[in-house]
This record gives sequence, C-alpha cells and structure tokens, in this order.
Amino acid sequence: MEIRIKDLTRTYYSEGKQIKALDHVDLTIPANKIFTLLGPSGCGKTTLLRCIVGLETPDDGDIYIGDDLVFSKDKGLFIPPENRGLGMVFQTYAIWPHMNVFDNVAYPLQTNRTPKDKIRQQVVKALKFVQLDGFENRPATKLSGGQQQRVALARALVAEPKVILFDEPLSNLDAKLREETRKELRSFLTELKITAIYVTHDRIEALALSDLIAVMRAGKIIEIGDPKKIYFNSDDKFVADFIGRANLIKGKIEKQEGEHAIIASEIGSILALNSQGISVGQSAMLCVRPEFIRLAPEQGKQGQNIFSGQMESLIFIGEAYEGEIRIGDTLLTTTIEPTANIVEGDKISISFDPDHCFLLSA
Ligand code: ATP
Repeated sequence: MEIRIKDLTRTYYSEGKQIKALDHVDLTIPANKIFTLLGPSGCGKTTLLRCIVGLETPDDGDIYIGDDLVFSKDKGLFIPPENRGLGMVFQTYAIWPHMNVFDNVAYPLQTNRTPKDKIRQQVVKALKFVQLDGFENRPATKLSGGQQQRVALARALVAEPKVILFDEPLSNLDAKLREETRKELRSFLTELKITAIYVTHDRIEALALSDLIAVMRAGKIIEIGDPKKIYFNSDDKFVADFIGRANLIKGKIEKQEGEHAIIASEIGSILALNSQGISVGQSAMLCVRPEFIRLAPEQGKQGQNIFSGQMESLIFIGEAYEGEIRIGDTLLTTTIEPTANIVEGDKISISFDPDHCFLLSA
C-alpha cells in the first residue's frame, strides 16, 4: 500500500527554542517496498514515523495510507493509530515480560475482540513465519535478544497490517546478531510483499536492507534513491558524505564530454561523471570512494585520472589496509588489499575510473 505525505510540519518548543522536527515534508512511499528513513540523530526520522502511525499529531499537512486520508490539518481529520491498519516494531521491542510468547503476539488481537480460535490461528501463523513455532508457552524473559526481536515482528504482523513500521529495531542487538537479523528481516519482508518503513541512523543497515532510502537532515528529505544510486552517484554532498566514506575534492568544471566532465581540481585535471549536468565554469566537488582509488601499476605513470603521491599512513584492519595518500596539500583515504606490498612513505601512483567518481554541486 502506497503512503503519501503532503507538506507535513511538526515543530517542538523546548527551553524557549523552536525545533522544526519536520519542515514541509513531501514524500511518496511506494507500495510493497522496504523504504528506509536514514539520517543523523535528531533529523526527524522518528517524528515522521510517529506521525504516520498516529502517535504524533503534525502541525500541518496531509497523510494518506493507500486512498485513505488518515490525517489532514485543513479538514480537521485525525484517524487514531488503532484504525490506521499498521503494525509497528519499536527499538525496545516492547515485549511484555510477564507474558509468554503466545500472549505477547496475541495482544493486538485480544484488544481487538477477535474470536479466540481466530486469535490462535493468526498467532500460530505469525510465529511460524518468524520461525518461532513451538515457542508459544516460552516466558518472554527466557528469550534471547534475537528471539525477542522476532516476537516483536510476529506481534506487528499478527493483525495482517497493510504497512509495517520499524524504529531502529536492531539497535539493541550485538554486531553479529544485528547482521544476521538484518538479512533475515529483509527476506521476511520481501516474502511478505508488504510496505515497510524503516528508521535507522546506521548507513550499512540502510544499504543492506532497503529497496529505497530517503536521507533526512534537519527535518527535510534531502534525497531519495535506491542504495546503489545513493552510494555511487548521489546528488547531494551531505548525502554522499553521510552514506559512506568519501574523498571530496574541490574544483571547477572545465569541459563537458558526454555524461562526464573535466574538472580542474587541487590535485590536477579529473574526468568524472556529471549526472547533474553542472555547467562549465561552475565550482563543483568531486566525490571518490576509498575503495575506488587504485594503486596504479607503474610509478610516475602519466594519463587521465592518474596522480603521483606518497603513502602517508597505513592502518591494518584485517580485511584491508586503510591508507592515507598525500598529493600536495590533499589527503585521500583509500582501501588497500591486505596483501599489498606497500609501506608508509612509499612513492606511489594512484588512479580512479571516471565512472566511479562523481561530481556534486559545491
Ligand atoms: P534519533 O536518531 O536520535 O532518534 P531522530 O532523527 O529520530 O533522532 P526525532 O526523534 O524525530 O529525531 O527528533 C527530531 C527533533 O525534534 C530533535 O531535535 C528532537 O530533540 C526534537 N524532539 C523530538 N521530540 C520532542 C519532544 N517531545 N519535545 C521537544 N523536542 C522534541
């Protein structure tokens, strides 16, 4: 089910200050996709999620779930959360410790006056789906973190919602379990073919889990795209920097060549993707990811996108080295394979492919 948000605003007042948690947000969340709201702490992700669920009342704007208008300031309409047909998984799971697994999952249906045999049928189905069949009588306190997370998911799914919303649901799990659960969650959601809205400030989680990512900053949506678009060819400097490690190099556009442009930069002339069509003569910022900087085979080699520099620092992190390369006043971060025969202080040449670096408005 598609969700449409029109001109949504939510302002808080705290200690005499005005905080625009949502600043005229317009957004369409397509049906049956995993849609992630990503951004730094305080950018408004949770406020937006809570407005969709109905736990928060916006100051202005409209919210549609499918064809149903569930909030409209102008029409004075506010549909309460329990009538919006949504399921929600919170960061804390909100599992009741005094109940067993069955009662935790059944809870939304019990408050709903669903007949008993229908409740049993739905709970068994939801637990089977999250691979916890047989756990019905287990006390909630006797579950691991990962199992609690799955109980929370089963409870969110038990009433067969049209949309499911997640607020940082993996942040209480340790790193390894978080990775496993992330994979599991993606396969659950893909199989369900349900609209899922997922809030996180963890870029790797967003990249690994999402069909689409909306990056937020200071109450606004800055950019929306699929993970590869956002990572490889973002339209915005803040987004490019937030979604992954980025070398940002300043320069000016000199010439356009098809979809690429030549930029005169502080390290020399660079050919790079210019998807935004920044005009000749304008300032721009080049973004090249560390993993796309290659050590060129021959030292001192000349050519397009080849530069001479010195390996200033090297840190071994197991799967790779993280290196810093100095070219004049510029320091570039790079990822180097762990078997590379290189030491700090070495003179080197680097290169990067014009298709693997992109230009942003300065
Ligand atoms: P985090 O990742 O830290 O959870 P977030 O992106 O989800 O952050 P929100 O929780 O939506 O951000 O908060 C957005 C802004 O609104 C923040 O500046 C926050 O301090 C402020 N805020 C949120 N709720 C309230 C409230 N009830 N009263 C006052 N300010 C609030």
